[in-house]
Amino acid sequence: MRIAILGDVHGNLEALNAVIAKVHEEQVDRWVQVGDVVGYGADPIACLELIRELDCTVCLGNHDAAVVGYLDTDYFNLYARQAIDWTREQMRAEDLDNFRRLHLRVDDELFSLVHGSLHKPEQFGYVLSTVEAADSMEYQQKPIAFVGHSHVPAIYMQSKDGPKNQPVFVAGPEMTADTTGFERVLVNVGSVGQPRDEDSRAAYAIFDSTTGIVRVSRVAYDIETAQQKIRAAGLPSVLADRLALGV
Ligand code: ZN
Repeated sequence: MRIAILGDVHGNLEALNAVIAKVHEEQVDRWVQVGDVVGYGADPIACLELIRELDCTVCLGNHDAAVVGYLDTDYFNLYARQAIDWTREQMRAEDLDNFRRLHLRVDDELFSLVHGSLHKPEQFGYVLSTVEAADSMEYQQKPIAFVGHSHVPAIYMQSKDGPKNQPVFVAGPEMTADTTGFERVLVNVGSVGQPRDEDSRAAYAIFDSTTGIVRVSRVAYDIETAQQKIRAAGLPSVLADRLALGV
């Protein structure tokens, strides 16, 4: 089975459309999204509808949780907080209901899914290093897990015999890894709508459960339109500026 995994979308419709078009060329069997469909960008509703149309398996992100009132906005920086307040005003009752139905972690037949870390998912910790990856893998029930949240793609692979706290680390911006023979694999799929690894292109991942190959790829999208919409919506202009820089 070929699975497409989409990272944080953050209401960036131009980036999401570019990723969907690219993934359609790759013939996948199912779609997964790691949470944070909304927040920051100007098209939260359109993005939620696209994710629903794709019948994505989704977990709850920290921005989603804040929009629905599960997480205090004090947790966020000023710009994120302003975007969350704006996003909440756009939401329809059905969108809020859909967020309330999401789980913090999903353990599917083939994979585990969480926004931040499997270690206390409700705390939305970041996996930014091999130490944090090992912390998450302690709680990983399936051979492969998909996460987002940091907006920086990375692959961590723990072998049966190797030291638990030193998984093999594969860095991006684009990468391919053969997961065959590894006991636990954690893939940070990067971000569709707000990459932060100084590569402004939208990120997505493909996992083939038959071959064990996982890949993170990038696709260029219409950043200028996404920026114009953010400014026109009255959202903080820094949220538009950062898209071009990939930060
Ligand atoms: Zn995010």
